[in-house]
Amino acid sequence: MNFILLGAPGCGKGTLAKKLVAEKHLAHISTGDLLREAVKEQTSLGKKAKEFMDAGKLVPDTLVIDLISERLGRPDCQKGFVLDGFPRTVPQAEALAALLKKLHLVIDHVILLEIGIEKVVERMSARLNCGACGAVFHKINVPPKKEGICDNCGASLYQREDDKEETVRKRFAIYMEQTSPLIDYYKKIGLLRVVDGSISPDATFSKVSVAIAS
Ligand code: AMP
Repeated sequence: MNFILLGAPGCGKGTLAKKLVAEKHLAHISTGDLLREAVKEQTSLGKKAKEFMDAGKLVPDTLVIDLISERLGRPDCQKGFVLDGFPRTVPQAEALAALLKKLHLVIDHVILLEIGIEKVVERMSARLNCGACGAVFHKINVPPKKEGICDNCGASLYQREDDKEETVRKRFAIYMEQTSPLIDYYKKIGLLRVVDGSISPDATFSKVSVAIAS
């Protein structure tokens, strides 16, 4: 099965992707993770993407499309994949459709996780990340045992530059303007399943399981 996860930043796409990938043995393709990796390794893509990401803006379509073309061509995608954070614009969705056609692949479900801006701010401005192992904590809901330290590997936790409140509000506005037109795009082709993203990750996952079985 091949999935696209759609929704505002902070709607829980990453958490849902991890659950789907574990349950259905799929490849997890997160453009956010791929871009952060490129920034960390200071590749030429990483250098170009960094200023957009830190400002909470979308990275230009051509860069992200090249990245995803390379990733979808790898053999592990043949067993099924979850696209987490791609596409985020109509041109990206059109490029994806062309690419999938070339690779003889189809999307089975597009899952939209619905959430409002205040819930997003509450979630993201309290989010803490581990730079070493990638674990994610939350100051209130999932606090680390020792303040500022990762439970899994003992490295320091940090707040992503793009998780600061002002940037979160800007990212939400960009989502409404540039990404939300994809809701209609996928509704028209009959692939859209809408699920509440403001509830707990387990409750969201149960609802997604029901939605994709029907
Ligand atoms: P995420 O971890 O999915 O929230 O992505 C973090 C940042 O990476 C976003 O705020 C964008 O700057 C960039 N990014 C990730 N995916 C895309 C995409 N499909 N198109 C453009 N920019 C992206």
